[in-house]
Amino acid sequence: MRILVVGAGGREHALAYKLSQSPDVSKVIAAPGNGGTALCGENVAVSDTDVPGLVALARDRSVDMVVAGPEAPLVSGLRDAMESAGVACFGPDAYASGLEGSKAFAKEVMNAAGVPTAAHETFTDFRAAKAFIEKKGAPLVIKADGLAAGKGVTVAKTTGEALEALEAAMVQGAFGAAGATVVVEEALFGEEASFLAFCDGTRAVPMTACQDHKPAYDGDTGPNTGGMGAYCPAPILPPDRYDATMDLVINPILREMAKRGHPFTGILYAGLMMTADGPKVLEYNVRFGDPECQPLLLRLDSDLPAILAACREGRLTPEMVRWSPQSALCVVMAAPGYPGAYPKGMTITGIEAAEADPSVKVFQAGTRRDGGKLVTSGGRVLGVTALGTDLAAAKATAYRAVAKISFYGAFYRRDIGEKGLAREQA
Ligand code: AMP
Repeated sequence: MRILVVGAGGREHALAYKLSQSPDVSKVIAAPGNGGTALCGENVAVSDTDVPGLVALARDRSVDMVVAGPEAPLVSGLRDAMESAGVACFGPDAYASGLEGSKAFAKEVMNAAGVPTAAHETFTDFRAAKAFIEKKGAPLVIKADGLAAGKGVTVAKTTGEALEALEAAMVQGAFGAAGATVVVEEALFGEEASFLAFCDGTRAVPMTACQDHKPAYDGDTGPNTGGMGAYCPAPILPPDRYDATMDLVINPILREMAKRGHPFTGILYAGLMMTADGPKVLEYNVRFGDPECQPLLLRLDSDLPAILAACREGRLTPEMVRWSPQSALCVVMAAPGYPGAYPKGMTITGIEAAEADPSVKVFQAGTRRDGGKLVTSGGRVLGVTALGTDLAAAKATAYRAVAKISFYGAFYRRDIGEKGLAREQA
């Protein structure tokens, strides 16, 4: 089987790595890929948002299955375009990808399906939205409807902040067309958890719960990032609650999308707030998280292409998805200045030394080969991921590996996994 992985981050290196280990996979192509995916196969310089270019590449190279890492190509119809061209593609169609592509659509579907989520109103008129915010008062959450590279959400502690966020989206056009519609919702309080499931249109099989770390600095301080680390399984949502959580936040969506003639095949990722009233959905994603993908795939004991094909073909069974009993933890090493402006082209050393420990895998994100050297090319540079007999062991091993790697100005959070450890102790 020849597989095309679409994307260029740490998640895509993890996908390419896991796919290339399958005895059924003869070749992995990544578009556009990075320094890590190049080690698993071949990189081809087609952008991950160039849907016609990706279709041409898949046909030209006789690809048997396409796997999209990021959401943007799915939202713009990658699955539909590939399947129309006769190429199998893992992931939901454009309509179902609207669960991530439009916050207003996701809310509408959640309400129709009876999924617990924050109370909300959707607005296309600035003055109406402003009046609503002034009447309700803070705390409120202001969300640009469309994809905004993770920057479209403001959790406003004051009404002034909420109005500022509204104005940025609807008047100043900070997110372009993505901010023309805005969702204003009630603020929820609690700890967050990521709950992902493989879906075949009618059936879903859960992955183990994860926890991500969005803020840049220790103690959840500093600006929001794409994610500075993740681990699984996350004690905040223990396995004995997976069935109930599936019935609360995954299965109702599968039934609703099937009813609408767009059965959901692919990965459905529920971002949950674990509130005092039980889990509530903050958002859906229609693909693996980055970096949640890295620890999840390191623990996956089954053949990944077999699972993806079964999802696409509507024959997924729980037996197909087996997890190592170990814990896995990923620490993201970032370039200085990230998530703001940062330098590129810094030489990276120490990956081999880190991987000398067989429990460690270094997934590359913002990297590229420059002659014989590996250099940085992005803000999130590496996802140093380790397995351990428990969370504490995975954490210790991951940080030992991080200490062996260097590039100019590298920074990382030192507290990945600590919330999980605190919960285990409690
Ligand atoms: P989203 O893209 O909708 O998940 O929002 C990004 C982040 O904003 C989430 O991971 C939460 O940290 C925060 N957030 C979103 N919605 C809410 C809410 N209703 N209450 C509190 N925090 C929220």
